[in-house]
Amino acid sequence: MKILKFGGTSVGTADSIRKVVDILLSYKKKKQEFSVVFSAMSGITNQLIEVSKKAAESNEDYHAILKSIENKHINAVKSLIDIKVQSKVVAHIKMLINELEDLLHGVFLLKELSPRTTDLVVSFGERMSTYIVSEFMKQSGLDTEFCDARKLIVTDHSFGAAIIDFKATDKNIKEHFKATKKIQAITGFISSTVKGETTTLGRGGSDYTASVLGAALGAEEIEIWTDVDGVMTADPKKVKGAFTLPAISYVEAMEMSHFGAKVIYPPTLQPAFNKKIPIWIKNTFNPEFEGTYISAKTKANDFLIKGISSIREIALISLQGSGMMGVPGVSARLFGSLAKKKINVILITQASSEYSICFAVEPKEAEYAAELINEEFANEIQAKKIDNAIVEYDLSIVAIIGENMRNTPGIAGKFFASLGKNGVNIRAIAQGSSELNLSVVIGEHDLSKALNSLHESFFLSDIRTLNVFVVGLGLIGSTLLKQIQKQSSQLLKERLLKINIIGIANSKKMLLDENGINLKDWNGKLEKDGEKMKMSVFVEKMKSLNLQNSVFVDSTSSKDVVEHYEDILNTSISIVTPNKLANSGLYKDYQKIQSAAFKHGVKFLYETNVGAGLPVINTLKDLKYSGDKILKIEGILSGTLSFIFNTFKEGTKFSEVVKEAKEKGYTEPDPRDDLNGMDVARKILILAREANYTLEIGDVNVENILPEPCRKAKTIEDFFVQLEKNNDVFSARRDEAAKKGNVLRFIATLENGKARVSLEAVGPAHPFYSLSGSDNMIAFTTERYKDRPLVIKGPGAGAEVTAAGVFAEIISISNYLKSFI
Ligand code: ADP
Ligand code: ASP
Ligand code: MG
Repeated sequence: MKILKFGGTSVGTADSIRKVVDILLSYKKKKQEFSVVFSAMSGITNQLIEVSKKAAESNEDYHAILKSIENKHINAVKSLIDIKVQSKVVAHIKMLINELEDLLHGVFLLKELSPRTTDLVVSFGERMSTYIVSEFMKQSGLDTEFCDARKLIVTDHSFGAAIIDFKATDKNIKEHFKATKKIQAITGFISSTVKGETTTLGRGGSDYTASVLGAALGAEEIEIWTDVDGVMTADPKKVKGAFTLPAISYVEAMEMSHFGAKVIYPPTLQPAFNKKIPIWIKNTFNPEFEGTYISAKTKANDFLIKGISSIREIALISLQGSGMMGVPGVSARLFGSLAKKKINVILITQASSEYSICFAVEPKEAEYAAELINEEFANEIQAKKIDNAIVEYDLSIVAIIGENMRNTPGIAGKFFASLGKNGVNIRAIAQGSSELNLSVVIGEHDLSKALNSLHESFFLSDIRTLNVFVVGLGLIGSTLLKQIQKQSSQLLKERLLKINIIGIANSKKMLLDENGINLKDWNGKLEKDGEKMKMSVFVEKMKSLNLQNSVFVDSTSSKDVVEHYEDILNTSISIVTPNKLANSGLYKDYQKIQSAAFKHGVKFLYETNVGAGLPVINTLKDLKYSGDKILKIEGILSGTLSFIFNTFKEGTKFSEVVKEAKEKGYTEPDPRDDLNGMDVARKILILAREANYTLEIGDVNVENILPEPCRKAKTIEDFFVQLEKNNDVFSARRDEAAKKGNVLRFIATLENGKARVSLEAVGPAHPFYSLSGSDNMIAFTTERYKDRPLVIKGPGAGAEVTAAGVFAEIISISNYLKSFI
């Protein structure tokens, strides 16, 4: 004999009821003996609670809700039941609805709703659904009898979550089943007192009904049929990557459900456990799938833990004061006073100093719990030895569960590292002494991020997800998106890295989508669905999505974006950027940003600030951290100026060379923005700061090579006219250098803590002498590289190489995360 139970979704529509009966028929075919417990149709219990509350508030809307409850059932009957017997079944449902209506009318008149009446109202859900399914079972060839569990399950008077009298109940069940050979279709969830008052077993209690029946009858197995593939590593509605656990122990299932895994109602496990009856959790909508097997044995799997559970809403109550220290009996009084009033304490922590005790309860009971405690400790509070209890709301609990946690070191470390890396603040910690679970209290707004990052750390230890936001979709930004799109499948396959682009924005529009933006048509999507771009709104949205492993990419050259860096890093989001403004602004701002990143353990990466994709900043860092001493840095840090001076050979005119550079698209629209050396000055400043010098941009000595009239020219055309007139100034410097066998190079230098940018003559022994084209070149002279400098050379500009540099840094963040968790 098996006891099966089908949940609300399984009997939620006529179609799903057909699926249920197909499953039952297949059992009959196998000659399997069984009886079945049913829940109310999905949503009905909630609606019944709502309708009774409305009636008690004298709100006439209750009629409409009642009507919709009626319609849902009548429609199911019409769809399932043969026309010949339909009127009988409809009549029975109408009769129940009338009874319910009378009851609600009473509530409406009295303006009062007792827990006793609520239990009676909600009982109609299971009574109607079970009746309909039992009729359909009969019609489908199953020899069935409707059974109202109120006749069998005897409880006390604790309406809402009644306590079962097992002795009486077991006797009733045994006798009932002895007297009949028919398949029983039993109402879940409902029960009654000895006096015949209707009670319920607590929300989700149909599972419990099945287990109580199974235990009383010594069933071979109990099967709980629901809408997911068994007990999973986490709630699949909250964690996309959750997967089914093939087998878990009763205790593990108990812990999972106690900490919020609604898939099984916690008390269900006890009766089955006592009688060692295994429970299967199976999916009505995927019946071929094996599901989860719950038994006394735990089965080792490849993971450190079995699952992650959460309770979305809890309140934390803390009691503290010197009067608690070393005083025996404080916790006994505290929890005793709560237990007397049946307040369920979900989690307790006490600091070892005994100065404070913290515990979690359901929010709806928090106020009352605090009152009870304040009453219990009234004397101590008056004597100022203990403070009034403090209640905090909007908190959640996350717990990791598994029997293998026992004796396995490092689990807590992994748990906290995963939360810490994602900036999830932990308010309280509790570990059961059984070491079966480790639970923390966190802010409710962090719940989804915490669940997903923990799931990734414990179950998908190889796959990393990065959630990326890109602001600035000009050449670099759009090239980056193209590169990411092209590489995504390879990254997933070879590096087990998944990059989700969650947000994009240009100066006009922004688009954020938690599920990721399809990169095939980001342009069209941004155009169509994007809203007006405002940087502060973008940041707020990014923060409120609160996704794990978030990375913000700034590929603008805007100051407006930089102003948000500190805030972004403070919310534990890493930043990757080719934008130089943050690192070349005021030193104090630069330092604030650097320390925000450090403090929150996130990355602030800007390799592309200098030399685009060339490994300049990382090389400098490596030299520094490996103990080398930087003596001198010299660099040709502008591709434009590199081209101009490498091309400005004998026989050429300076103005012509600049013109050629402009025509080739190498210069800024106004070439003076290159020739004034400011861009190069910012780059050497960034390198100087990286080498630990606290310089400001004003400390960089910049030679302005342009003669006065060129600088003053009002238009670009006028500038070229003036430049032509001044060609001699440049030719003279070049020829002077040439006489000594030297060439002109526009060089940024850092030496003895001083930075300068100037046009210099260098001889054949200098590494920059033979530079050609528009390459960048950086030479580090250090204690270790003293005789010949360490030289880095290559293209130092261009969207492809810059975007690739940004991309590489995004990928490097995934390695960093992996090394921690
Ligand atoms: P039923 O109506 O069949 O009793 P419930 O809604 O009570 O179904 O429970 C099933 C739901 O439990 C799933 O849809 C899922 O969202 C939720 N759930 C929470 N945690 C887990 C978990 N670890 N594994 C599977 N489901 C879970
Ligand atoms: N119908 C009840 C509820 O929604 C019992 C159950 O579904 O298990 O809580
Ligand atoms: Mg349930």
